[in-house]
Amino acid sequence: MVAECSTEESEAAQQYQRLFEEAPVAYHEIDTDGTVIRVNHTECDLLGFTAAEMIGQPIWKFLVADDQTASRQRIARKMWAPEPIPPSEREFVRRDGVVLTLEVYENRILDHAARVVGIRTTMLDITQRKHSEEALAQRTAELMRSNAELEQFAYVASHDLQEPLRMVSSYTQLLARRYQGTLGSDADEFIAFAVDGAKRMQALINDLLVYSRVGTHAGKFQAASSERALGSALANLRAAIEESGAVIHRGPLPVVFADPLQLSQLLQNLIGNAIKYRDGAPPEINVACEDAPREWRFSVRDNGIGIDPKYAVRIFQVFQRLHNKKDYPGTGIGLAICKKIAERHGGRIWVESLPGQGATFCFTIRKGEGDSK
Ligand code: ADP
Repeated sequence: MVAECSTEESEAAQQYQRLFEEAPVAYHEIDTDGTVIRVNHTECDLLGFTAAEMIGQPIWKFLVADDQTASRQRIARKMWAPEPIPPSEREFVRRDGVVLTLEVYENRILDHAARVVGIRTTMLDITQRKHSEEALAQRTAELMRSNAELEQFAYVASHDLQEPLRMVSSYTQLLARRYQGTLGSDADEFIAFAVDGAKRMQALINDLLVYSRVGTHAGKFQAASSERALGSALANLRAAIEESGAVIHRGPLPVVFADPLQLSQLLQNLIGNAIKYRDGAPPEINVACEDAPREWRFSVRDNGIGIDPKYAVRIFQVFQRLHNKKDYPGTGIGLAICKKIAERHGGRIWVESLPGQGATFCFTIRKGEGDSK
């Protein structure tokens, strides 16, 4: 009976020993002085030392030099503190000098009388993950910096170009008024081209300024009524609505966490386009909002000329237009502004359309605290 029991026990012990050695995580135990008393194959492979080289050594000897004194003090504190030891990240040095970042999980070892006799530690190698995370963080920071620089450049350039352009524009207009009909028909035509070009350039630069301001001169996010944002968009579009005979239908619209002025600008650009790109018949426009799990999904549907799906991405880029300015006036920046505003609100914008069948522009806004239908 006794012999049977000890066979089972020794089998269990062997299994435990195999598990300890073969587990895919690094494992070691230290005594109350911080000296390594057991270490598994995985940890030896990871650090490049043999068990004989590690056992009997203080564990902090295998950490980066900067952390060795602190580690010694930490171990003394952790050994006797009553609370569980939280997971941590530590830098160990492999035999060949390469620094490894390890995720460290520690538990105190207790004897039969519940006295602390050491600490058992499992460790995962997260060096690769750390490197990727650092590279990603660095790339994100670089992208943000170059984005901010570009935005600032667009702002400064468009702002500073306004003044000289105003001069060109007003003097070419003065030339046109004063010398119209006195310099010959060629001269009249040339001056008209110059006036027209200057006006168009002013419109482009103004729009570029508005575009760059979406990021640089933005307002604060707050609980914003999208009913009210739509109301002010429609008020600004009153002349176009009356002149075209547009009918606007609206569903219930929520309170969202947004920059109210930008929300209004976004709706105004989409409804303005729905009126502008009409198909002869008076525009019928539907503004609605769906409650999705993590976002509000707005839509502006029209019965206008529609868009070929192959242009569905291009139209959201700066100065990209599908028509010449005689058929439909514009600079091609309205939808780029909409995209920037939607993205600033953690959302997206897209169009669903076919030529001749109207267009539905959809955009989302990330939900925030205090949103309501
Ligand atoms: P703009 O109206 O000044 O050209 P936008 O950026 O607002 O600039 O629009 C880009 C292009 O997308 C337009 O030139 C037009 O071809 C197309 N578009 C925008 N809205 C609509 C719409 N509601 N229906 C059909 N085409 C549209």
